[in-house]
Amino acid sequence: MTTPAFYAAAVTPTAQASPTSATRSVLARINGGRPRFSVEFSPPRDGAGEAQLWRTVRQLEQFDPAFVSMTYGAGGSTRDRTVRITGALATETTLVPVAHLTAVNHSVAELRAVVGSYADAGIRNVLALRGDPPGDPLGAWRRHPEGLEYAEDLVRLLRGLGDFTVGVAAFPEGHHRSTDLDSDARHFVAKLRAGADYAITQMFFRPEDYLRLRDRVAAVDAEQGRKPIVAGIMPVTSLRSVQRMAELSGQQVPAEVLARLEHAAGTGAEEDRAAVREVGVQVATELGARLIAEGVPCLHFYTLNFARATSEVLGRLGLVTGHG
Ligand code: FAD
Repeated sequence: MTTPAFYAAAVTPTAQASPTSATRSVLARINGGRPRFSVEFSPPRDGAGEAQLWRTVRQLEQFDPAFVSMTYGAGGSTRDRTVRITGALATETTLVPVAHLTAVNHSVAELRAVVGSYADAGIRNVLALRGDPPGDPLGAWRRHPEGLEYAEDLVRLLRGLGDFTVGVAAFPEGHHRSTDLDSDARHFVAKLRAGADYAITQMFFRPEDYLRLRDRVAAVDAEQGRKPIVAGIMPVTSLRSVQRMAELSGQQVPAEVLARLEHAAGTGAEEDRAAVREVGVQVATELGARLIAEGVPCLHFYTLNFARATSEVLGRLGLVTGHG
């Protein structure tokens, strides 16, 4: 693909970047030879949500995660919150923030402006995503008329804009729009070849899915296959919400995991949240332990902005002390 000229001009940060986080790249943090963990947050909807997020941030900060990532929504206000809060994470905590960015409803000029805002806030780690159609994640994808088609194009854009460490998404069970796992792996490798430094996977429950993805990537391109693939884990705390999340991302919770969660949920009108939570933490711990044994560089926890379940899994895995 061609690289238009406007991709090439670098973004110059205008604000003083945090000396602690701006200089630290995710790659250095996850390539240290010992298993690390990282966490994902989402921009909160209101003040109460923001207070909850900051409690979680402070609880997890003490465990020194390799990085914390902040998702990027579809609407203007939630996007502004992502930029603002990720910037605050860079300047007001010891954490290394990763800002997500999607191509949804953005022209290239707008994407450049968002990247500029990230750079101004001292953020040097960006996760490059295509995103999904707003309102209907499984609906037909429509590129912005002056925007980008694939995440691969966004990786190239970021590479041309400055000294960013760039991550991309990976899908152990295959992306819901992919027709088969082999073409999915080839498209994933294309993002790595375009300049992505590492990847983070969608949540999954079977270690084999991650291991097979790793094998497929190595078979397509051994050199790119050496780049780190961070494994996405969700400690389930609600049967209903994990089913909904899987549905929205075109996934299915594997039958064996679903059976354990359903058994814990019981047959009452309301699911037994405490029992589901305990099974969810146990399932995530089993998955994490196997992945660590298989040499995964980093476990990425989908936290939903809460610290407790993630802290318990980390404690049981021996990645932090005093929890579990
Ligand atoms: P792409 O890599 O562009 O792939 C999209 C589809 O196109 C895939 O089926 C792929 O195989 C195919 N494809 C790629 N290149 C080609 C090609 N050259 N020719 C033909 N087909 C091709 N969404 C958000 O809105 N906000 C977020 O913050 C967010 N964070 C995420 C974080 C992680 C770790 C993950 C795993 C997903 C996240 N998502 C987020 C969801 C993501 O945006 C969707 O899953 C989206 O559908 C795919 O994004 P992608 O970057 O993988 O797209």
